[in-house]
Amino acid sequence: MSLKTPINHNFNITCPKCEHSCLYDLRLDELKELSLNKSSSDLENQYEFLSYVVCKNPLCNYDIELKGYIYEYPENTIKSAEITSTK
Ligand SMILES: [Zn+2]
Repeated sequence: MSLKTPINHNFNITCPKCEHSCLYDLRLDELKELSLNKSSSDLENQYEFLSYVVCKNPLCNYDIELKGYIYEYPENTIKSAEITSTK
């Protein structure tokens, strides 16, 4: 998967501190960590990612940590993505 791989995934996330909800636009070049999960099947690659987004609430500005998975299949195509934890 290259940084030019297009991702069209938006997530509605909720700030764990103030419960303000905002839309998070997943972009490969903004991810802090991206690692291939070797235990995934041969058909698709599963990547674990870590990212941060600042809460849009001006009274909060909490740095929200996002963890999730990106599934790539076929190569350089994002099949799906999910966020598994926000904190
Ligand atoms: Zn907040």
